[in-house]
Amino acid sequence: MVRNKLAAGLKKIYPAGRILTGTLEKKMYSYDSSFYARFRDFIPDAVVLPRSTAEVSATMKLASEHGIPVVPRGAGSGETCGCLAVRGGIVLDFSSWDDVEEVDPENMQVFARPGVVHYQLNEHLADFGLFFPPDPGSTRMCTIGGMVANNSSGLRAVKYGTTEQYVLGLEVVLPDGRIIETGGVNCRALKNVSGLNLTKLFVGSEGILGVITMVRLRVWPRPKARGLAMAVFTDLEAAPAAVLDVYQSGILPSGIEILDSSAIHAVNLYNPAINLPEAEAILIFEVDGNPAGVTWEGEKIVEITKKRASRVEWSTEPGRMAELWRGRSVVAVAAARLRPDGSRIFAGEDISVPLSKVTEALRRIKELGRQHEITVVNYGHIGDGNIHTAPVINLDNPEEVARANALVDAIHRLAIELGGSTTGEHGVGAVRNQYAADEHGRAADIMKQIKETLDPENIMNPGKLLPPGEAGKSV
Ligand SMILES: Cc1cc2nc3c(=O)[nH]c(=O)nc-3n(C[C@H](O)[C@H](O)[C@H](O)COP(=O)(O)OP(=O)(O)OC[C@H]3O[C@@H](n4cnc5c(N)ncnc54)[C@H](O)[C@@H]3O)c2cc1C
Repeated sequence: MVRNKLAAGLKKIYPAGRILTGTLEKKMYSYDSSFYARFRDFIPDAVVLPRSTAEVSATMKLASEHGIPVVPRGAGSGETCGCLAVRGGIVLDFSSWDDVEEVDPENMQVFARPGVVHYQLNEHLADFGLFFPPDPGSTRMCTIGGMVANNSSGLRAVKYGTTEQYVLGLEVVLPDGRIIETGGVNCRALKNVSGLNLTKLFVGSEGILGVITMVRLRVWPRPKARGLAMAVFTDLEAAPAAVLDVYQSGILPSGIEILDSSAIHAVNLYNPAINLPEAEAILIFEVDGNPAGVTWEGEKIVEITKKRASRVEWSTEPGRMAELWRGRSVVAVAAARLRPDGSRIFAGEDISVPLSKVTEALRRIKELGRQHEITVVNYGHIGDGNIHTAPVINLDNPEEVARANALVDAIHRLAIELGGSTTGEHGVGAVRNQYAADEHGRAADIMKQIKETLDPENIMNPGKLLPPGEAGKSV
């Protein structure tokens, strides 16, 4: 009955081509990029493709009237089932609402609709000599709405921070259909400390508090120069120590990446022509800024890391930089090459630990892999303690999948034990909310209260982010 009313109600809001209810069409929306989605069947009741705030508002009013869950979705590149309809309902697919509404170079900001793809936004901004610095690896897929909802970032977070540092304001449709602007109505100021910071509340809220329909982002001038240093270490402990040496010398690289021995081995198997030196760890430092500063910082990094590394190379020449970067750029896919029947799974894949615990984390993850008899490849953003762990398993072997789940649980718990977080990038979604109470203590109760205030019917992306219980449950 409710589902019939839903179909009739949606037809009043959307033209026929923007409502999807076919079995196959809905099946396409039962996946994101996560390992977990493969084993479950979260089929929505309907999918709609909004192209205006009024359409989103009308959809939320309809959903709240009938108590139907609503799930916002960008590109579905998330790794946590965040955009999946774990309790059925309506999926709002924003991928076709991809207008850059305005670039305001005089005020160093841009207004974008939620479906704009990150890479395309930066292509657009390049014409103005500007850029939006956060740089997820999924740049060619992920949308600005998804990035804001997940507070995404990438390897340059070391210097440029995460999405939250750039969001000046949002247009949000609340679960009951009301429309609000955060960050000041019609405000174009870069600094604004007036009122409670609702913008920050919605950034990283993973679609559980409201639907983002417009994003006002601060943008930066494009750096004029870039350089890369690669340092090779025969001792794993020496790599984090070298990172600290660089920081203590007063240099802030734009990125510092690590490949450990497992990652180096995987890259060389994947493409022997890359021919990375077999070692315990390789660090890649990226420096950007003005040409003279880049050269000075690069030379300093060489001088400093040489004290611990067996080999260091620095380049500002584009061809050579591309070669130095090649190993890092393929490692995510290379991991699967470690065994013929292997797939790299995105699970337990982005823990974040204090810088002082990176070595311990890497050693203990290797040990956990041995205990659970699963190969794990480690790489990632050592400059801010965000480690990518890549278990490699045979997905068709249920016993191995069960062992992988146990390993991933242990990796998440290790992150919390070391004073870190289960996720530094990809978010909680429906796969990490069982750790929320351990990670946040009593603050998790306040999160629930905020959710209940804004969404008393729990229709807004239910079953995500919050500890399992009344307001949500893990998948
Ligand atoms: C190969 C690969 C590399 C990746 N690398 C990185 C990385 O380096 N850094 C990183 O942070 N992440 C990374 N990710 C994860 C993912 O790409 C990011 O989290 C991304 O920001 C998600 O964007 P999306 O458009 O795909 O969102 P989706 O996956 O569609 O949704 C993600 C979440 O945002 C919510 N949401 C989407 N749109 C809205 C909206 N308009 N209003 C409210 N809520 C909304 C959804 O409900 C869901 O909870 C990677 C993923 C892949 C597959």
